[in-house]
Amino acid sequence: MPERISEDQLTRWLEHVDYADADESRAMAAELVQLRRLIADFTDRDDCRIDHHGGCQAHGYLSLEPGELCPHTEAKQLLAEWEEADRG
Ligand SMILES: [Zn+2]
Repeated sequence: MPERISEDQLTRWLEHVDYADADESRAMAAELVQLRRLIADFTDRDDCRIDHHGGCQAHGYLSLEPGELCPHTEAKQLLAEWEEADRG
C-alpha cells in the first residue's frame, strides 16, 4: 500500500464509493481534497530562515522544539509526497 494516495485516486474513490456509510466516506474524501488544496494555497513558497534558537524567522514560528519542523517545511514535504503520488 502506497504511503500517499494521489488526488486522482481520491477523486476516483469519491466517484465509486458504495460502502454502507457512503455519505460519511464521501464527505471525508471531499474534505481531504479540499484540505489538500488549502494546504497548497496557504503554504509559503519562501524558504524558512532558522535562527540560532531553532525558530523560523521567515514564518514566525519562533518557539520550535528541537527536531520540530516549521509547519511550512512540513507542508512542503507533504505537497512533494502528494505530487509524487499524483505522478504515479
Ligand atoms: Zn518556516
